[in-house]
Amino acid sequence: MRFDQYYISDDIKKNLAQLGFKKPTDIQYKVIPSIQKGEDVLAIAQTGTGKTAAFAIPIIDKIQRSKSSKRTYGIRCIVMVPTRELAAQIGDVFESLSHHTKVKTFALYGGVEQDVQIKKLQDGIDILVTTPGRMFDLISQGYIKLERIDTLVLDEADRMLDLGFIDDISFVKKKLTRKHQTLFFSATINDKIKKLAFSQVKSSAIRIQLSPEDPVSKNVSHAVMFVEMDDKRFFLERYVRDNPESKLVVFVRTRVRAERVAKAMARVGIEALSIHGEKDQHERLDAMNTFKAGACQMLIATDVSARGIDIPNVTVVINYDLPEVAENYVHRVGRTGRGVNKGVAISFCSKEEMTHLEEIQAFLGKDIEVLHVGKGDYSQTLQFTQEISAEDLIADQEAFEKGRKRKKRRK
Ligand code: ADP
Ligand code: MG
Repeated sequence: MRFDQYYISDDIKKNLAQLGFKKPTDIQYKVIPSIQKGEDVLAIAQTGTGKTAAFAIPIIDKIQRSKSSKRTYGIRCIVMVPTRELAAQIGDVFESLSHHTKVKTFALYGGVEQDVQIKKLQDGIDILVTTPGRMFDLISQGYIKLERIDTLVLDEADRMLDLGFIDDISFVKKKLTRKHQTLFFSATINDKIKKLAFSQVKSSAIRIQLSPEDPVSKNVSHAVMFVEMDDKRFFLERYVRDNPESKLVVFVRTRVRAERVAKAMARVGIEALSIHGEKDQHERLDAMNTFKAGACQMLIATDVSARGIDIPNVTVVINYDLPEVAENYVHRVGRTGRGVNKGVAISFCSKEEMTHLEEIQAFLGKDIEVLHVGKGDYSQTLQFTQEISAEDLIADQEAFEKGRKRKKRRK
């Protein structure tokens, strides 16, 4: 089915065409009709599968149909997200899908002056995309009215519920229209959070879960390399030298390490931007926009940025340090291989990080392929990085696995 066959307004169809979206992705195909019917939905689908448009399209359409003019009479929908960058990004998606419609979206987040934001809220908006902190601030100050809201979305829902906002969310829900719709979206979920989620939705809620057996997107070829802690920067440098065209997101464990790796790269003439909680909001958004625009090849980030961020054409994710929380592995490697694109993710695992690797593999329910590289021997990395395409990586690994099994049998 193509978008032009959907029961959605022509303006939205035009906007979809403009974005180059012809057919719905799997999750969009399954979720849009449920949202249009007014059902509560808990949707789990891998990273990069188009969850944002899955809720944005029917929400914009519903508001567009119910408005006779551009005037607004109060917020109709709130989309809650865990980070400021994500609020900005999802706000942009809503805007690009609501061009020429009567629907107005605003992205609200902390770390910036609130006066301009208050003015914007007072001018009237239909959809508020927001981080919880600033939202609750402005609710308590009386600038955000909840009475007319009939749709509540939690994106990265497991994270939102895990952050301990459950009481606040219940508080907000009590103030919304009685028949409001609640929509949860995420790439990962665990049983505890699932229970919490179900406590917040109607008993008729629909659960739509795609590919639960492999949380890592099939567009991402991922592997682990055993690298000594002190050698990591050489491998990173080497990777960039051998892949001058690549666009990399490099994840590190802490803010301090983000700065340290950026400096190490600068010393060898490789420019890298970094983004983490220590930087002020303007710096964070600047770094993100510069990287998105392609003006810099490498973005160094901490786990804060692992969720939801959709940067076009990231070809490689490097886990310079392994994530300490296993599910973050899925969110980190999911920054590549988005939409129809393929991507590669390589994790540098030192001796000290073996337990993290085991936890990640337990979370994934399978072992991660190993790329064998001896200490100080970069030749194999070179080959790997020069010749690799996503398909090649899978083929190589399969051949490698087969070879290994054959060797074992011979022994
Ligand atoms: P998720 O939230 O599932 O991780 P996003 O909503 O951020 O994924 O979308 C991932 C990428 O897929 C984005 O770059 C988006 O523009 C693209 N995309 C979404 N829907 C479609 C579609 N129907 N056709 C083509 N590309 C799409
Ligand atoms: Mg998302």
